[in-house]
Amino acid sequence: MRIALYPGSFDPITMGHLDIIKRVYKLFDHIVVGVLHNPKKNTLFTPKERTDIITNVLKAEKLDNCVSVDSFHGLLVDYTKAKNINVVIRGLRATSDYEYEHTLALMNKELSSELETFFLMASNNYSFVSSNLIKELFPFGADLKNYVHPIVMEAMKKQLS
Ligand code: ADP
Repeated sequence: MRIALYPGSFDPITMGHLDIIKRVYKLFDHIVVGVLHNPKKNTLFTPKERTDIITNVLKAEKLDNCVSVDSFHGLLVDYTKAKNINVVIRGLRATSDYEYEHTLALMNKELSSELETFFLMASNNYSFVSSNLIKELFPFGADLKNYVHPIVMEAMKKQLS
């Protein structure tokens, strides 16, 4: 089985993340969306909430037969080794992403020589979309329907009410 891990905070999942999943899932037998639990990061949703939201979005998009969700904490390479996963998917938006992603991929390769990181360029429509920007704009009533799934919109409404 060719399994790839798409790790991230997904706080919350955006259409940009979903776009990467939709473009990549056909290339592998299975994709695991890995929700990273980083206690140092101040998040809007708990790992369990983020995992539940993604599960519901994948179901609604009929992707749940080839894409699953899991959450993990600690080192990414420990997770991939434990699950026998050799490919990590990451998205690249701007040059600012590149610098961080470059060092992260090199470090992960040092820590696990079997691990390869595959990068997908963000689509034009989503290259400016980030979870942080969504969280910043949402409380002001910005029209975000093109950038987050209705399930995410509902969850944010509930969380911030
Ligand atoms: P992290 O905290 O690990 O950066 P994110 O949830 O912000 O987690 O992002 C997970 C991955 O998805 C990263 O590789 C990021 O570059 C990518 N990504 C985030 N937003 C987009 C987007 N709009 N289009 C494409 N890739 C994206």
